[in-house]
Amino acid sequence: MYSMFTDKIVAAVKAITNKTREIVTDFRIDKLSKLSKKTMIGIGASALAVVVICGAFALSGGEEPENALLSAPPQEEEPVEVAEIYYSIEIDGTSVALLATEEDARAVLDNVVDHYRTEGSEIISVAYNESVEIVEVEAVEPELMSVEDAATMILTGTKEPKVHTVVSGDNFWDIAVKNGMTVEELIASNPDKDPDRLKIGSTLNLYELKPFVHVSLTERVATTERIDYDIAYEETNTLYKGEIKVKTAGVYGQRQVTKEIVRENGVVVSSTEIASAVISEPSTQVNLKGTKSLATLVGSGSFVSPMGNLEISSAYGSRGGGRHTGVDLRNPKGTPIYAVDDGVVTAAKYQGSYGNIVKLSHGNGVETWYAHCDKMIVSVGDVVKKGQQIATVGITGRATGYHLHFEVRKNGVPQNPMNYL
Ligand SMILES: [Zn+2]
Repeated sequence: MYSMFTDKIVAAVKAITNKTREIVTDFRIDKLSKLSKKTMIGIGASALAVVVICGAFALSGGEEPENALLSAPPQEEEPVEVAEIYYSIEIDGTSVALLATEEDARAVLDNVVDHYRTEGSEIISVAYNESVEIVEVEAVEPELMSVEDAATMILTGTKEPKVHTVVSGDNFWDIAVKNGMTVEELIASNPDKDPDRLKIGSTLNLYELKPFVHVSLTERVATTERIDYDIAYEETNTLYKGEIKVKTAGVYGQRQVTKEIVRENGVVVSSTEIASAVISEPSTQVNLKGTKSLATLVGSGSFVSPMGNLEISSAYGSRGGGRHTGVDLRNPKGTPIYAVDDGVVTAAKYQGSYGNIVKLSHGNGVETWYAHCDKMIVSVGDVVKKGQQIATVGITGRATGYHLHFEVRKNGVPQNPMNYL
């Protein structure tokens, strides 16, 4: 709610703005009376009229003081402390900051509004829930604030140290939101704490945001929004069931939208679209959808090499008294690993000493396994083609160097892979 009080003053005093300027000038000459005099000269950020309450001035006797000052006998031995005029920002009647000039005081309120403003927006209206006034005061060498400090203080309020004790289920995000802080502020206030490992019972420093004002800002914002495209499907028996391939990629459209957005201290209260124009229409994406039954999936039976370079570092068969169920193929980290035949991915996971392992089923009870992978780039259910990359060489699981442990299994029984390659 905009202060009724301020509205009245604006209405009553707008008419005497010119007169006001003269009075202010007189005030500068009349420096005999001190802090008891107050001249209210401005209200809020949106009220630009100069406003003055003349009552206090009237008490000092109109133009008399000027003459009185000039006719007073000189007192060279006792220099008089001279009060200067400053500009106080008063919120609900309490002075929160004293600025050197009226321009500075206005800049503080402009900065407060700008803080909540969307970049490039057109401001329609600004209102404060509190009464916000710039008041002219006289003081002798008072403590002044910079525009920046005053704006920061009005936006954040008094920072009162506060502590939060971590309970089960807490996380940095929730704690920050509950206390009006950003996660970054909370992290900055607790440099010794790991956000991912909060210990129950430990304490976090909180500095609650308590803005002095609640700004209701109505602005008009022009943005470009994308328009989603539709997706059409075409069935094909060249792909297996569940397989989808893009035939023609969709293209997003664009529209220009003008919205009137109301925010209270930055939080959107309402958003109304007031104008919209299509810049470009979207174009439909066409996807191919497979119909071929997976039961018909049988590999060719002839394998391609799982890697470009086959260097056997450990052969299939007996090894150190144990049994080596596959062949180890040495290659540097990141070397691409290919599917040796058409197949379906039946596993892509971490499995004990195998590390990251991809298993492919090729039909007729034939499976191939690819172990110690660094990255796996397929998922269970994917249909892969002979020669398609499925993973990269790594050292995961029980491995002493970068290599692919490659197995061929028929009805679950390990075969010598070299008979297939
Ligand atoms: Zn091996």
